[in-house]
Amino acid sequence: MAEKRITYFKEIIDRLEKEKNLSDDEFKALLETEDEEVLEYLYAAARRVREGIYGKDVYLRGLIEFTNFCKNNCKYCGIRNGNKNCERYRLTFEQIIDCCNIGYELGFRTFVLQGGEDMYYTDEKMEMIIREIKRLHPDCAITLSIGEKERESFRRFFEAGADRYLLRHETADKAHYEMLHPSDMSFEHRMQSLKDLKEIGYQVGCGMMVGSPYQTIDHMVKDLRFLQDFRPQMVGMGPFIPHHDTEFKDEKAGTVLMTLKLLAIVRLLLPDVLLPATTALGTLDPKGREKGILAGANVVMPNLSPTDVRGKYLLYDNKICTGDEAAECIRCMTGRVETTGYKVVSSRGDHVNFV
Ligand code: SAH
Repeated sequence: MAEKRITYFKEIIDRLEKEKNLSDDEFKALLETEDEEVLEYLYAAARRVREGIYGKDVYLRGLIEFTNFCKNNCKYCGIRNGNKNCERYRLTFEQIIDCCNIGYELGFRTFVLQGGEDMYYTDEKMEMIIREIKRLHPDCAITLSIGEKERESFRRFFEAGADRYLLRHETADKAHYEMLHPSDMSFEHRMQSLKDLKEIGYQVGCGMMVGSPYQTIDHMVKDLRFLQDFRPQMVGMGPFIPHHDTEFKDEKAGTVLMTLKLLAIVRLLLPDVLLPATTALGTLDPKGREKGILAGANVVMPNLSPTDVRGKYLLYDNKICTGDEAAECIRCMTGRVETTGYKVVSSRGDHVNFV
């Protein structure tokens, strides 16, 4: 690339670091460039900012995929209700508690309960699970990732002891949202849920799939504007990967490169954000999560689900880590993180500015 262009990009990356903002056209230019010198400069800025706040620490979240029943039919998702080939399972109360106990021994201090929108787990059942985890492990954080609910349910879970909630917005563009979801789901309700969660007092995570069908650079800029405005404590971003039993089976997957650029840009926009290097990123590239950490991510989420259900929580094809025991997952992840020069720590890893 011409020297002049490189100077232009370095100037906008410096300004993004300093002012945490750029014009739409500058964001687009960054999202479109594939120049290696520019990208390395971008990732280096993201690492500097992240180390200034969180040092070399990488936080662990123990992911418990406790049900793959779901009432929704998101067009991209392998566990959507309409997929008759999906073998359904639910963990019992005891199994969920066992996962946490095993995780605690292994050093996890955050448990993420993720699942489809499964009406079997009523508010009462969820409260019982949350209270029991908190009773056994009061020094741990509980993150919920169980989709959209009404404000009252979110409030009840928070009262019961849930600390954080992950609800990716998926895309900040209403028309695009409607291309990814059936007509009985609403963009407004997803956004309202995010607002409710924030007001109730959760540390909130939103985020988008990178390279989902019909996604444009303009949509990505809109996502960045949404993040600037909403100011989440966490941002979950991973590449879209097609699942063979969905109408998007023949669509192209998102790319590792675009995911890395977005991780770095989001790190510079929201310096203290908690940013996971996702399993989807590791699925597209054997070194995907390591590359994510080197682009500004500071969270990894090893799987704590019992091995016999691992292979059934398939949101997309070729998902990695579906066979290993929890102990093996954490060993593997710790080693991977070490290769990047960062280190896994055993702490709750709360958002640094969350009060
Ligand atoms: N039911 C919960 C949890 C969903 S699973 C909820 O609605 O929030 C967590 C995330 O996986 C989703 O938010 C989505 O962004 C991602 N996901 C689903 N299908 C995917 C696919 N085919 N490729 C990549 N990511 C996918």
